[in-house]
Amino acid sequence: MCGIVGFTGNKQAAPVLLDGLAKLEYRGYDSAGIAVRDGENETEVIKEKGKLRVLAEMTDNGKAVKGTCGIGHTRWATHGEPSAVNAHPHASDDGNVIAVHNGIIENFQEQREKLIKKGYAFHSQTDTEVAVKLIDYYYKKYSQLPIEAIARAMVRIRGSYALCVMFKDYPGEIYCARKDSPMIIGIADGESYVASDVPAILKYTRSVYYIGNMEIAKLEKGAVTFYNIDSEVIEKPLTEIKWDAESAEKGGYEHFMLKEIHEQPKVIRDTINSVVTDGRVHFDSVSLTDEEMQEIEQVYIVACGSAYHVGMDLQYVIEALTSLQVRVELASEFRYRKMTLHRKSIVIVISQSGETADTLAALREAKEQGIKTLGIVNVIGSSIAREADNVFYTLAGPEISVATTKAYSTQLVAGYLLALQFAKARNEIEEARYDALLAEINTIPEKVARILEDKERIQWFSNKLINVSDSFFIGRGIDYAIGMEGSLKLKEISYIHSEAYAAGELKHGPISLIENGTIVISVVTQTGLIEKTISNMVEVKSRGAKVMAVTTAGNYFLEDTAEFVCYVPKIESLFTGSLSVIPLQLLSYYVSIGKGYDVDKPRNLAKSVTVE
Ligand code: GLU
Repeated sequence: MCGIVGFTGNKQAAPVLLDGLAKLEYRGYDSAGIAVRDGENETEVIKEKGKLRVLAEMTDNGKAVKGTCGIGHTRWATHGEPSAVNAHPHASDDGNVIAVHNGIIENFQEQREKLIKKGYAFHSQTDTEVAVKLIDYYYKKYSQLPIEAIARAMVRIRGSYALCVMFKDYPGEIYCARKDSPMIIGIADGESYVASDVPAILKYTRSVYYIGNMEIAKLEKGAVTFYNIDSEVIEKPLTEIKWDAESAEKGGYEHFMLKEIHEQPKVIRDTINSVVTDGRVHFDSVSLTDEEMQEIEQVYIVACGSAYHVGMDLQYVIEALTSLQVRVELASEFRYRKMTLHRKSIVIVISQSGETADTLAALREAKEQGIKTLGIVNVIGSSIAREADNVFYTLAGPEISVATTKAYSTQLVAGYLLALQFAKARNEIEEARYDALLAEINTIPEKVARILEDKERIQWFSNKLINVSDSFFIGRGIDYAIGMEGSLKLKEISYIHSEAYAAGELKHGPISLIENGTIVISVVTQTGLIEKTISNMVEVKSRGAKVMAVTTAGNYFLEDTAEFVCYVPKIESLFTGSLSVIPLQLLSYYVSIGKGYDVDKPRNLAKSVTVE
């Protein structure tokens, strides 16, 4: 995720671009750049690593760059580290095509190789440069018409993109194309704007067009023309934006947390697609070889907070699919334990920011002992990403809300793919089972989307928790791991005391805390363990607890025991965590807003814990 802004009109473009990019700051970024053209003159490209402030200083807040047509970008790296070379805009070597891009070109490697054979050279590690050069290639090979060149490139490109392109032969014009990445087009008297999101242009206009998937637009001063992929002109209705600037940043959602919860189907899909092609998991980008995976005997998963809960879930998955021994460790404990690590082991560290102090220290400790390391990380170029031997990037995009949702979900799915790949590399899984499991993983995004459609029921139930002071989450196996995450979510944003227990542990102490009205939320999805957990539910219910259950569709008998049952779609038992966590995220969200708390910024908490 990143921010894109484009402008063509009569006033100076650079200040408009910088101002618009600043409004998209919430999307996160690691570098920024602009390309501005003054009439027929050469386009000036300025880009640099770091915050937008750096670019603003370099250009005297845009005043030093002359021209009334331009494009700008804040990058949130997905392909290639944050650096000036990888920053956008990217250009063809002769400056014929200059573009900014938000999204991921999944088949960039393949297209890059083809273009190299045609004589193109590449200077950055980005997928974006491939898109730019592909457009340039089609432009020169065929009719030299921008729309046609872009349309041809769109047919070849797989993945997601919001692209803004300037062509040397067409001064004053900006061409835009979109698939699955956000982009809107604004229009005012004699001026046209394009941006990733409404707040970037709200100061200048409230009249916008929504460009659809696989559509192209041509922006001229105060005029926009839309085209379909066959280069035919299409009509679009003009919409009036009624939001205020703050809610616009949240894409119409009331809070970032809710927005991020809803982004989960897409980011889980992106993370899967980053390593799965043609029905196979490919780990070239992670650079962990089959031979390395065959040699490993012990896995340590080390993390903090929600990422630790991901590890808790993954231990069940890895142990079920392989003969590997798995230990899950809290990074803050691991780093100070005098533990001799198994020689044939791998330490997997999980961190959204890639900067979590304890996790980073744990990684360093493992490296010190000469153990192979793998980071599951969201932020490209972060310390963990740089220091780990291997990196599996989750493609959650920037997460703003302090309570994690989408980063957690992408870490989990990354872990499933890792477990599957371990099983395959070690010849511990049959071909048919491998295919079946991968097919199941592929259903997760759509099933998460289905759960989100039913969120009103959870909102209704959340009212019952508003006045309680204690709650318990119980489950067995993977359900226990999910209960731990549900419990953390609830306590961190609604400030309700909450504990998660392996259901079988209740009798060893916590049951003494159950009294009339205590809330017990049970996660019950693991075939073979359902009846055991139901017995525990009955035990707490008969002591006065109010019981809620999250279970798989079809387990209607749970309604005999639980006061409220939330059903998630059926899925292979090993992967239920990806689904059952969603109602729990929603529940804590609704309880928090029901209590009137600042859900995106809970008290005493920081997004990325870079201190011990
Ligand atoms: N995939 C592109 C890159 O890594 C664009 C990332 C973005 O959306 O900021 O440069």
